[in-house]
Amino acid sequence: MLERSAIAGGLATTTFEQGYGFDVTGHWLHMRDPDIRARISPLVAMGQVERKSSIYAYDRFVAYPFQSNLKDVPYGPRVECLMGAVEAHTRRVGGVPEPGAFGDFVLHHFGEGIAREFMFPYNTKLWGVAPNDISHAWCQRFVPVPDLRQIVEGCFSDVHHQAGYNASFSYPVAGGIGAFSGALAGAVGHMELSTDVQRIHAGEGWLETAAGQRLGFAHLVSSMPLPALVRSLVDAPEEVQLAAGKLACTSLRYFNLGVKKKVLDGLHWVYLPDPGVHAYRIGSFSNAVPYMAPEGCSSLYVELANDREYDDDDALSGVLQVLSAIGPAVDRGDIEVWQKRSIEHAYVIYDHAYAAARRVVMEYLEGKGIMSVGRYGKWEYASMEDALMDGRAAAAIIEQS
Ligand SMILES: Cc1cc2nc3c(=O)[nH]c(=O)nc-3n(C[C@H](O)[C@H](O)[C@H](O)COP(=O)(O)OP(=O)(O)OC[C@H]3O[C@@H](n4cnc5c(N)ncnc54)[C@H](O)[C@@H]3O)c2cc1C
Repeated sequence: MLERSAIAGGLATTTFEQGYGFDVTGHWLHMRDPDIRARISPLVAMGQVERKSSIYAYDRFVAYPFQSNLKDVPYGPRVECLMGAVEAHTRRVGGVPEPGAFGDFVLHHFGEGIAREFMFPYNTKLWGVAPNDISHAWCQRFVPVPDLRQIVEGCFSDVHHQAGYNASFSYPVAGGIGAFSGALAGAVGHMELSTDVQRIHAGEGWLETAAGQRLGFAHLVSSMPLPALVRSLVDAPEEVQLAAGKLACTSLRYFNLGVKKKVLDGLHWVYLPDPGVHAYRIGSFSNAVPYMAPEGCSSLYVELANDREYDDDDALSGVLQVLSAIGPAVDRGDIEVWQKRSIEHAYVIYDHAYAAARRVVMEYLEGKGIMSVGRYGKWEYASMEDALMDGRAAAAIIEQS
């Protein structure tokens, strides 16, 4: 195994500063496959945490997911959301087919009110593009789609709809999510860190590292981002290079904050649909896992909107306002750690070029026996567990060959 960084784990790594622990934004492990769970448990001690998350809008909390909890929405917009959901239901019953574009998909299932009040502003901040510039192909697992009855119930009922793929999650009992990756890395027979793969010849079966070392391979399993993998292929045809050039993703800017107070009202993360706030989500590692901050303090991650330019100071001011509105007043004097970070490849953008371009690249790699795996290797919206499953599948293919 060759890894470019000095530590293994990719995005599933953790750093500590002044007693505050920070993952690369929230990295909570959802294990739905019993075999994955069984393979992990001997390697690293994991605790189970019930998700506590909410949306902050209209100067109040609205339980997540928005579409199932309209009871928390003020009267006027609540009526609009409900009317929109009824109209959308009527259109669906009338046989209108499910559209492909994400924005139209939202209107089709939730109606105009929910689209306007939450889905459109939140997703525009996250994706940095207009809702109809992406397809809904990414959202099957990640956006709960309640039927009309559940939406109506959510208008009146106090029952908190813990819908969604991440209602509970696993997390290491010490060391942050990096302890999980570290445990996996420890089980790998041979790994070379700080080794950057730069050139690959698919036809001749060799790769070259930045240090000029050339290694032959019988099988290649790559978790490099797909466009980078294609760029490194010295023998890829132009058609494949062109297709890879069309693959787009968001680059996420985020802050790590170490704050001398308990904030976010015990919540693990809060969604911020308000277009006036530059962050779209604030999370607290330490509310979910107390060892991630000193006693009485909070370690936070702040994910910053992708649809605008702003300076960091303005973004921080907005965050402090939100924190102060939600919990005790927080000012700059309370901040012990402020780190500005970014993730070059964050969310794969499922735009109109996506499906065809990805197919060209994946078919070429398959033909050459190269297995491109993981969220960025497969170029899709996927989780850590999906990456583990990809690794398991790749190992099975190699074993059988
Ligand atoms: C903002 C955000 C929040 C997320 N939250 C969650 C969550 O809560 N739960 C969850 O399950 N998932 C979450 N994910 C998804 C999760 O990060 C990915 O599914 C997971 O990291 C994929 O693992 P991977 O090994 O495929 O890719 P990566 O983690 O990107 O690892 C790829 C590795 O390849 C190495 N590499 C790249 N190029 C080269 C090269 N040329 N030579 C050698 N090595 C190279 C990199 O250094 C890296 O270590 C989140 C992702 C983001 C962006």
